Amino acid sequence: MDWAAEYARLLGGYQGDWRDQSLCRDMDNTLFFPDRGSVGRKALAVCKGCPVRYECLEFALGTEQAHGIWGGKTARERALMITMRKNREKQLRMMTEGLENSE
Ligand code: SF4
Repeated sequence: MDWAAEYARLLGGYQGDWRDQSLCRDMDNTLFFPDRGSVGRKALAVCKGCPVRYECLEFALGTEQAHGIWGGKTARERALMITMRKNREKQLRMMTEGLENSE
């Protein structure tokens, strides 16, 4: 799959929301899909100054984007965040169910 094209589709296909303010909107998308083994420092530097960094990250986490740099985070960092979030939700669910069962 052409991940850079997919990224362009995701970022360019919406109007009237956070994507309109993204710093990378008119940039070369391949920058955000660094070669294997590369951290993608240039892309991360762009994200650092982006006004919609948190919205972008939340979108990537919510849709589980498995490739590229989104919201100033690498795919590996996001995978860890998604796992942590799922674990936390599972713990909360177990705690809630435990409370309901004790009533
Ligand atoms: S945070 Fe980075 S990837 Fe996300 S919209 Fe901004 S520049 Fe693009």
